[in-house]
Amino acid sequence: MSISEFGQRKSTVRNPTKTLTLIVIITLMDTIGVLTMYPMSQYLEEQLRQRFNLLKFWDLSSKAEFLHRNSHSIRAVVGNAKYGADAALIDALPKLEIVASYSVGFDQIDLAKCRERGVRVTNTPDVLTDDVADLAIGLVLATLRRICECDRFVKRGAWNKGDYKLTTKFSGKSVGIVGLGRIGSAIAKRAEAFGCQVSYHSRSMKPQTNYKYYSNIIDLASNCEILIVACTLTDETHHIVSHKVIDALGPEGILINIGRGAHVDESELVSALLEGRLAGAGLDVFENEPEVPEELFSLENVVLVPHVGSDTLETCKAMADLVIGNLEAHFQNKPLLTPVI
Ligand code: NAP
Repeated sequence: MSISEFGQRKSTVRNPTKTLTLIVIITLMDTIGVLTMYPMSQYLEEQLRQRFNLLKFWDLSSKAEFLHRNSHSIRAVVGNAKYGADAALIDALPKLEIVASYSVGFDQIDLAKCRERGVRVTNTPDVLTDDVADLAIGLVLATLRRICECDRFVKRGAWNKGDYKLTTKFSGKSVGIVGLGRIGSAIAKRAEAFGCQVSYHSRSMKPQTNYKYYSNIIDLASNCEILIVACTLTDETHHIVSHKVIDALGPEGILINIGRGAHVDESELVSALLEGRLAGAGLDVFENEPEVPEELFSLENVVLVPHVGSDTLETCKAMADLVIGNLEAHFQNKPLLTPVI
C-alpha cells in the first residue's frame, strides 16, 4: 500500500505493527522539506502538501534570506521544464537528496553537480509522449492549412467579402524528425498515418524502424519538406537548427519545434521567415520564454503556442503522480520509478 492509499485506508488496516510503521513513515514524511521552483499544477501542489512540508521558491522578497532560513530542512526540489536546479541552488541546499522534475527534459538541472553531490534526479517520461506528438502534428496542420489565420478570418467577418486563399497539403509530405526518441517516434507514427515519408536524425541509427536515417542534420533538412525538432537539449544540440540547416530546409520548408527553444538559432529563424527563406514555422518553445520575438506576431505563416506540449488535464495529473511516486519511493528507500541519475 502506498502512502497515498494509506490516508484513505488506515481505518481498515488490521495489523497494528504495520499501522504503526505507516504512521511513523507518514509523520517522518511530513517533516521533509520539499522546495517547489515555480507554480505548477494545483493537483501536484495539493498532493505534495498532503505528504511533505511544502516550500515555495517564488514571490519571495529575498531568496537568499529564504534559503538562509530553510536550507537545512530542504531534502527535495521539484522543478519543471523552465525552472530546475542550477549549481548555485544545489550548493545552497546541504541536505538535498533528490531533484524530481515535473518534465521529461532535464536541461534545467545541473546533472554534473547532482552527480558530484550524490543527488538523485527523476523526470516524467512516457506519460506526456502522446500529447507532445499530438501537438507537433497540430502545429504542422495549423501552419500548412493556416487554421489559426482561417479562424481569425471567419471571426472578423471577412468571409462575407470573399473566400480564404488556398493553403498547402500535409498528407503525403516528407517529414524529417530530429531525435527519434519517445516523442520523435510517436510523431513518426502519426506522420505515417498521414501517408508521409518519414526520415530522421539522431545520435544513433534505429535499426528497428524502416525510416531513412541521416547522420547529418543538414542532409535531413535538405531531404524533407517538414522538419520537426524533438531531441534532448544538450551542449551538442544547442542551436542544432542553424542558419545552414534553415537554408537546407529552404523556401518551401516548414520548421516545427516542440523540443526546446534553444535547439533553434532564433534570430536566424526570424530572419529566414522575414526574408522568405523558409515557408513557415510552428513553435511551442522559444529561446527566452516567455519572451517571443515580436517580428513573428504579424506573420500568417507562423503559429505560436506558449510551451503547452504536455499541458492537458490528463497528462499533467499523470506527470504529478509520477513526481509524487518518485519522491515517495526515494524517501521510503525504494527504487525510483523514473530515474535520470
Ligand atoms: P528521449 O526519448 O530521450 O529522446 C531524445 C532523442 O534526442 C533521442 O532520439 C536522442 O537520440 C536524441 N538526441 C540526443 N542528443 C542528440 C544529438 N546530439 N543529436 C541528435 N539527436 C540527439 O526523449 P523524449 O521523451 O522523446 O523527449 C525529447 C525532448 O522533448 C525532451 O528532452 C524535451 O526537451 C522535449 N519536450 C518538450 C515538451 C513540450 O512541452 N514542448 C514536452 C516534453 C518534452 P539517440 O536515440 O540516438 O540517443
